[in-house]
Amino acid sequence: MNNYEPVIGLEVHVELNTNSKMFCKCSADYFGKEPNTHTCSVCLGLPGALPYINNKAIDYCLKIGLVLNCQIAQKSLFERKNYFYPDLPKGYQISQYRWPLCINGWIEVEGKEGIKRIRINRVHQEEDTGKMTHSNNETLVDFNRSGVPLVEIVTEPDFTDVAEIRDYAKKLQQCFRYLGVSNADMERGDMRLEANVSIRVKGEKLPNYRVELKNINSFRFMVSAVEYEIKRQIKEIEAGRIINQETRGWNEDKKCSYLQRSKEKAHDYRYFPEPDLPELIIDRNRIEGIKKSLPELPWEKGRRFEQAGVKKADARILSEDKGLAEFFENTLKHGQKYQVINAQDIANYIINKKVDINLILPTQIIEEIRDKKVGVITDLGNLQKMAKKALIENPESVNDYKKGKVAAMQVLIGAVMRLSGGKADAEKTKEILKKLL
Ligand code: ADP
Ligand code: MG
Ligand code: ZN
Repeated sequence: MNNYEPVIGLEVHVELNTNSKMFCKCSADYFGKEPNTHTCSVCLGLPGALPYINNKAIDYCLKIGLVLNCQIAQKSLFERKNYFYPDLPKGYQISQYRWPLCINGWIEVEGKEGIKRIRINRVHQEEDTGKMTHSNNETLVDFNRSGVPLVEIVTEPDFTDVAEIRDYAKKLQQCFRYLGVSNADMERGDMRLEANVSIRVKGEKLPNYRVELKNINSFRFMVSAVEYEIKRQIKEIEAGRIINQETRGWNEDKKCSYLQRSKEKAHDYRYFPEPDLPELIIDRNRIEGIKKSLPELPWEKGRRFEQAGVKKADARILSEDKGLAEFFENTLKHGQKYQVINAQDIANYIINKKVDINLILPTQIIEEIRDKKVGVITDLGNLQKMAKKALIENPESVNDYKKGKVAAMQVLIGAVMRLSGGKADAEKTKEILKKLL
């Protein structure tokens, strides 16, 4: 039983947040807009309409490819992926097949076995389809989404546990947001996941089948779907049955996967080069320019936070979101003025108080932390130093106290308070003064 090992490959689709669509000038900002208002002859697939390439989208695709350590093709080509469906008015999707923009990359993920490299097979550019809504006895179709730039990222079948795929999907999402190429909101469908799962006996060669899990719209569902599928397949194998190559969907209510399409019904897309688009030539300067524009990535920031003294888990939380990461760094910079404050103090404050970065300033946080840290137990040594100084500077009060004037103590405490800028703990100061007198 324990000899089995899952083999998983992921396909991720991400919608780019460019102003216009992939092959026409229609606005790509379609979410929540009145149906069929962001359309033209190109994205409606009317006869004779000619597509043209959105170069911003190509730049975004290249950004993703570069972050994933891919080789960038100097020459790339779009192809037609032919199939019939009501949300695809042209009868084909313009995609990339034999000549993708980016190939052979990798990314590090963390799972049960520690840090591991996942190979990226390809990152290519394509266009989204329209969207259908089914209700009662009718189906409505909205073409606002038709032609929105879509990037597909395909890994090699390198994942062996669900923790790895969760980490991978999260990393990609953070990356898209850091790069500013997509909102990558799974619920809205900006980012979509498909997992391919098969089972082998550990060490054996790649299984000759794979089950594709489609329509997964949250990280949590993906984990449940893959875990379920692994169990289902192992059961099949142990029962001596052969697992079919097929496509399955995930039913979150029933917590099970269900058959959508079997191998017999697999598509033959009859890919061929898109005759209406020129080949894409990507010159060195363009790639160098994009490389220079890349921001520091979430995991790089996280590593830097760790080096600054933040616990690994916290460094991760703080680097997930670019805005939060920058806020933390800003706070860290202000905190350097005070030796008593370290990076982990600031991390604790921001994480424990679930700080809303729009409602508080880094300087406010620093002052609060400083007030909390100075004057309390941690600074007994400091209090003692100030107490001694107060005694030297106020010989009369010392004399008065020694003569039995209890009120003189208040004067001495007041002196320490002044020396500490009002931060000394009055009770502790009194104790220390008593001991010194
Ligand atoms: P398709 O368009 O048919 O989905 P892709 O090449 O886009 O094909 O994606 C295939 C995916 O399946 C890749 O992520 C790949 O890693 C994965 N894969 C291939 N073979 C296996 C296997 N035996 N088990 C699990 N995943 C596999
Ligand atoms: Mg697929
Ligand atoms: Zn259009």
